[in-house]
Amino acid sequence: MARSVLVTGGNRGIGRAIAEAFRELGDDVAITYRSGEPPEGFLAVRCDVTSAEDVDAAFAEIEEKQGPVEVLVANAGITDDTLLLRMGDDAWSRVIDTNLTGSFRVAKRAARGMLRARRGRIVFISSVVGMLGSAGQVNYAASKSGLVGMARSIARELGSRGITANVVAPGFVETEMTETLSEELRSTYLAQIPLGRYATSDEVAGTVTWLAGDAAGYVTGAVIPVDGGLGMGH
Ligand code: NDP
Repeated sequence: MARSVLVTGGNRGIGRAIAEAFRELGDDVAITYRSGEPPEGFLAVRCDVTSAEDVDAAFAEIEEKQGPVEVLVANAGITDDTLLLRMGDDAWSRVIDTNLTGSFRVAKRAARGMLRARRGRIVFISSVVGMLGSAGQVNYAASKSGLVGMARSIARELGSRGITANVVAPGFVETEMTETLSEELRSTYLAQIPLGRYATSDEVAGTVTWLAGDAAGYVTGAVIPVDGGLGMGH
């Protein structure tokens, strides 16, 4: 039966690939977008995850048009990179508010319906950087490792109600976020990746749909790397 799925930031990049993968499985898929024209074929709801009002209104619309969210993918995220001593409170707060608090807001709102249904799947999109650390990304890495503690706490709180919470930690993925890297940085990174290439968004999406499927029914509180081996050992 079609599930009601929500992918935040599903209008482009990795989120879009995840949304398309669920649609291909026959699910009803809602995506959030902030501006511009969202892709067709989804229930597109305008929502900035830094606004609790936006999040609440988006869920109300999805619940009305598609039913309570059964699978939540908290994917929306940003970077605002600079070295520690140059990082202002604004860059720190913006990234934490979007990546970590934004994920908290949507997970909390989704949990309501999941608790009522006594089942649900929550997947947080983290990053290899959350575990490895990354020079120039103190804010981003903190936000992404924060998702691990959040997912594991939710897994403990809601496990008895049939709700799982997991983390997918991609390495480098070919998207707009990585397009801006210099050639030099790109080859430095590639040299450290055992598989010697970046991931495609579809490879991340495949892991997410697996976590949301029956085959992963006993997987919760897990951090699944999709990083070509870059983060092995943590
Ligand atoms: P993109 O920059 O291509 O897309 C980011 C998405 O997040 C967009 O849909 C954007 O919406 C949305 N978004 C950003 N801020 C907000 C907000 N305040 N409210 C709602 N939506 C928002 O990034 P990617 O697809 O590359 O990344 C997706 C996720 O994967 C992120 O969490 C990222 O940290 C993570 N990731 C990416 C990696 C990579 O190599 N690309 C590696 C590891 C993790 P809008 O179009 O409105 O801006």
